[in-house]
Amino acid sequence: MILYSALVFADGPVMFYHGARHMNEVTLTFDDGPHPDYTPELLRILREANVKATFFVVGKAVANYPKLTRKIAEEGHEIANHSYMHYRYDGMSTADMAAELRAVNELIERTTGQKPVFFRPPGGRYNKLVLDAVGNEGMVMGLWDVNAGDYYKPIPVKERKPYRFSKRSAQRRSQSMVRDVVGRTRGGSVILFHNTDGETLKAIPEVIRLLREKGYDFVPMASLLTRSKVSKNR
Ligand SMILES: [Zn+2]
Repeated sequence: MILYSALVFADGPVMFYHGARHMNEVTLTFDDGPHPDYTPELLRILREANVKATFFVVGKAVANYPKLTRKIAEEGHEIANHSYMHYRYDGMSTADMAAELRAVNELIERTTGQKPVFFRPPGGRYNKLVLDAVGNEGMVMGLWDVNAGDYYKPIPVKERKPYRFSKRSAQRRSQSMVRDVVGRTRGGSVILFHNTDGETLKAIPEVIRLLREKGYDFVPMASLLTRSKVSKNR
């Protein structure tokens, strides 16, 4: 069992969007899991590609699927805190934030043995109070610099098929995700994906293959942070 928190130095920055740009390491992050239908397939893809990533899990899903959460950790991935219910933090009181951050950290630690280093606010929304709350827990705000944009977006009514049970939402095509992610990734990049199906699962093996061709290695986010600091202090 790797304790990622042990890799991070005490004087850490509170916000982390990406690592040092001269490194050849990058991080894949997967938000909103674990999901019983999508996470096992995602784990299989990462296992086959021998990639260790960072999963920003939702506390409620950890409570519902402890075995699956443990499996993510056992396969060598980093587990990070993405709130309990995926409610926005920028409208929450300081006391509520502190209590929730702590509760989710404890749940993750009890379930996986990992003490989360990072918190990622739902929807990426934060303010000074959220930053302070995260800092007070000795955590780092784990953001990203490359967004795959793999959300399901509602299809405008006039573009829907004219039958009653036609699809109401759609994901961006995998080719477009791949082109964008590979084009925008630089050394130290943190790439945002979600625990979802369809186009995301198609895009990930391609993203891994093409970024490796460009000479990048994949490491969990806490390692990216630590290596950035080591190389900066040298
Ligand atoms: Zn999310």
